Amino acid sequence: MFTHHYTEAVILSELIKGEADKVFTVYTRDFGKINLLGRSIRKGKSKLGMNFQLFSHVRTGFIEGRGYKTITDVSGVSSFKKAKRNLGKLSLFYRISELFLTFIKGEEKDEKVFIFLLSAFEEIDKADFSVKEIELFYCFFSFQLMRFLGYEPHIQSCAVCKKKIEKDCFFDLEEGGAVCCFCFKKKPFSVYLKDIRILSFFLHLDIKDFPQDAKAPDYLLSEFLFFVSENPYFKK
Ligand SMILES: [Zn+2]
Repeated sequence: MFTHHYTEAVILSELIKGEADKVFTVYTRDFGKINLLGRSIRKGKSKLGMNFQLFSHVRTGFIEGRGYKTITDVSGVSSFKKAKRNLGKLSLFYRISELFLTFIKGEEKDEKVFIFLLSAFEEIDKADFSVKEIELFYCFFSFQLMRFLGYEPHIQSCAVCKKKIEKDCFFDLEEGGAVCCFCFKKKPFSVYLKDIRILSFFLHLDIKDFPQDAKAPDYLLSEFLFFVSENPYFKK
């Protein structure tokens, strides 16, 4: 007997498989990140193909077989069509999906993360973003996601000696955050920060409080994402 499941999903990526199939990676409300097989989805005008589109929000049913979870039915909730016509917004969808594909390992239900992802997509769809705001939104979203996933750094004082850090420090994730210049032991991935306050980007809960210039958060973010994705210690 196959078990039939129903859930809501946001489609993060798709891969062509064989003659007519596709494998989707989706983030679901009830199962976390999973792969779903769309059988014969590329044949003619299949209803599945029409609704199961990249970066869409859908309600879907699937059965759990031996090899794959196979999609049985789908109804579209939102395809975020407006956003997809804007190159900057489309690139946001790609980059946010990439974060999910890289940093969320395995299947684990986390409804908070689902709602967070969905509301970001909805916000992107309806907002009137300038190029600068697109970059800021990406930075803000990424820091928030890192917090959700438990990567929030310790920023009040030196993670090693616990002394207050006045200004410059190193961002050392193995120690769990900021490390003062005295305690810093040279490691290839530690990031030098001119000012510890830059780490407070992780703590902003509202994009309105976020710095209006994306340069500093962008720099920290790229160093941070590189560090986490390259370091097996942080792989979940
Ligand atoms: Zn120290």
